[in-house]
Amino acid sequence: MTLTTSPTVTAKTRVLTLLGDPVAHSASPELQNAAFAATGVDGVYVAVRCAGDDLVGFMRGLARAGGGGNVTIPHKEKAASLLDVRSEAVRRTGACNTFWGDARGRVHGDNTDVEGFQRALRVFLEGSAQGIRVLLLGAGGAARAALLGLLQEGAEEVWIYNRTKERARAIARRIGGQKARVVSVVRELEGERFDLVVNATSLGLAEGDASPIDFAMLGRAGAAMDLVYGRHVTPFVRAADAAGIRSTDGLEMLVQQGAASFECWWDVDAPVDRMREVVASR
Ligand code: NAP
Repeated sequence: MTLTTSPTVTAKTRVLTLLGDPVAHSASPELQNAAFAATGVDGVYVAVRCAGDDLVGFMRGLARAGGGGNVTIPHKEKAASLLDVRSEAVRRTGACNTFWGDARGRVHGDNTDVEGFQRALRVFLEGSAQGIRVLLLGAGGAARAALLGLLQEGAEEVWIYNRTKERARAIARRIGGQKARVVSVVRELEGERFDLVVNATSLGLAEGDASPIDFAMLGRAGAAMDLVYGRHVTPFVRAADAAGIRSTDGLEMLVQQGAASFECWWDVDAPVDRMREVVASR
């Protein structure tokens, strides 16, 4: 049997929770408890289904008791508004997925989807994203994290295409500045050349979904990074593979955002290889 929880839970053990609705299918408890065990930190991680009205009580109570945790759908924006101390990633994306307390009773928060995306991007590109030209598909929470991550990594230009154009405009305004360009109609993409295409839509969660893009319409796609993951090969990755484009799914970002959260709580390096093993064995 694999040991996935801390060996002993005592009265001193820190409690970290995933707060969201739903949470039952999350990989975070296995991922974090394995990381706690591998590093010997005294913590336990549990998932708690939580209504929006209960979020403030859970976050403040846990943080003041020395704990913290993650926040997931649909509470990331609300969590950002409840913090006392916000990271730059929270301020710029308006979302919080990680929180913890300090000795003065303040609640701190970060959005480690940004750092997680950046680390996964570096692993995938095997180097820097400086100067690259990117097509970003989607305009929800994951797209906001990816857009900020891309700009902070030095991307030269990010074109954003989303089913609902107004949402693409909103994230371009909020985060993108001069380097973001909103694609109004898909035809504008014909013949365009990109170093990287990122799928931040939720298309692909179901194996039978269509790919969010027809790669054949582009002049070039140097690489394709899906933020969606599952037990199946995602339709975006399948389409990229069929077009001979190097690709990856969202599992590395899942690991890396968890690793960045771990580091917020414990201030020690996360055991990334162990976390990869846990995700791969699910
Ligand atoms: P979200 O805020 O609900 O945004 C969903 C996005 O997908 C929107 O841009 C939406 O377009 C688009 N979309 C949904 N259905 C579509 C369809 N049928 N056709 C075209 N576009 C469609 O969700 P999110 O939090 O950004 O998450 C997006 C995906 O990223 C999810 O699959 C999630 O699991 C994944 N994710 C992965 C990680 C990771 O660690 N790997 C982290 C975060 C999220 P509209 O604006 O037009 O509705």
